[in-house]
Amino acid sequence: MTLVAVSKTKPAEAILDLVAQGQRVFGENRVQEAQAKWPAIRAAHPDISLHLIGQLQSNKAEDAIALFDCIHSLDRPSLVAALAKAQDKLGKRVPCFVQVNIGAEEQKGGCAVADLPALLADAREKGIDVVGLMCVPPAGIEAAPFFALLDKLADDNGLSGLSMGMSDDLETAVQLGATHVRVGSALFGER
Ligand SMILES: *Cc1c(COP(=O)(O)O)cnc(C)c1O
Repeated sequence: MTLVAVSKTKPAEAILDLVAQGQRVFGENRVQEAQAKWPAIRAAHPDISLHLIGQLQSNKAEDAIALFDCIHSLDRPSLVAALAKAQDKLGKRVPCFVQVNIGAEEQKGGCAVADLPALLADAREKGIDVVGLMCVPPAGIEAAPFFALLDKLADDNGLSGLSMGMSDDLETAVQLGATHVRVGSALFGER
């Protein structure tokens, strides 16, 4: 199980505290913020793995491929195309999780459950290394059924990675098979 320490909004000093304790996998949700914070830290700690966990605009795809080691928010055909083009241009392949809108919430990112097989086929055909599924379940209700559904969807589609679980529901996510938990406030304190 991989603990992705979500360092969005947190300054370099707070990140370096965790690095000193041995943490090596970090998550950011904005490309621009990550570009400002991470090159200096990584120059000193080349073994750090940096994951993008937030929504990605297609016009930032190339910056994202250049900077990140893993992307958790692939959720639509236009982004598949943009990431594939960026990968070809930069000669770099970045493992991706497909984000699923697991609670069918209108305001949330993620691909609809019904659209998942087609999106996966498109991504694989264009050379994206899809390693699993990611979700952010609806706030304020029991997360377990949504995690269980994500696990089933991954199974159905031959995927082993499950990026699920945040500070408030990480134990449930781990019990239900998470391979990556994305934890911010429980590690860094409130934002
Ligand atoms: C901020 C964020 C997290 C971490 O949330 P916490 O509640 O602080 O643990 C996890 N995943 C995504 C997509 C986020 O944006």
